[in-house]
Amino acid sequence: MSLYNLNNYEIKSGKKIIIPLGSIEQHGPHLPISTDTIIAEYLANQLTKKISSYALPGIPYGVSFEHRPFFNISISNDVLSELLSQVCISLGENGFNQIIILNGHRGNMGVLQYIPQIVERNNPKVNVFGINYWHLIEREFDHGGFVETSLMLAIEPKLVQMQMAKRGYLNKKRLHSTYTTFLSNTSSFKITRNGVLGDPRKATKEEGKKIISITMKNLVRTLKELDDLLIM
Ligand SMILES: [Zn+2]
Repeated sequence: MSLYNLNNYEIKSGKKIIIPLGSIEQHGPHLPISTDTIIAEYLANQLTKKISSYALPGIPYGVSFEHRPFFNISISNDVLSELLSQVCISLGENGFNQIIILNGHRGNMGVLQYIPQIVERNNPKVNVFGINYWHLIEREFDHGGFVETSLMLAIEPKLVQMQMAKRGYLNKKRLHSTYTTFLSNTSSFKITRNGVLGDPRKATKEEGKKIISITMKNLVRTLKELDDLLIM
C-alpha cells in the first residue's frame, strides 16, 4: 500500500517501509527519462501486496552524470546522501525501524553503500537496506536494452516507442569487469552512441512480466532473509 494517500490515523508505524529510488536520465530514443523511477516505484508497490509494508512515492532525482552529453538531471552524491539520510532519520522518528531503499539506477549505488551507517549511527533502532533491483533479475542488466524495455512494456506500454528502438552498445569483446568499471566514467555513455546499453528490439511485454515475477520472488526472499539475519 502506498503511504502517501493515507491519513495520520491510518498509518501503522512498525511496518517495513520502501523508498523507491530512481533517476531522470536518457534511456535511448524509445524510453522516457522517467524509466528508472517508474520501474522502482512499480516494484515497490507490488512488494507491498506481498509483504506487510508501505511504499513511499519514488524519489526521481539521482546521480546520472555518466550520461553526459545525453540528457540527465543529476544531483551530487552529497545531496542524494543527505536527502535519503534525512528521510530515513525522519521515518525512524515516526516509528519506522526497517527501511528498504529500492534502487532503480546504477549511478545511485555509491551513495546506498553508506546511508545505513549515517542513519543507524543517528538511531540504532533503525535498519536501512539498499537493494538494487537488477541484482535480482537473474540476467544481465542493460540500459534501455532488452530488460528495461521489456519491463516498461509490461508496466507503462504507452510510454514505449518500439518503432524507435535500436541496438546500442553490446559488450562482446572486452572483459565484463572492464566494461562495468568503465561505466563509472562520467562520459561512459558516449560509447553507446544512442544512449542504449544492450538491444531492445526483441523486448516484449511477456518477457517483462517474467522478469517482474522473478524479481518479485527474489525481493520477497531477500526481505525474509534480512529479517532472519537481523534476529541472529
Ligand atoms: Zn534505467
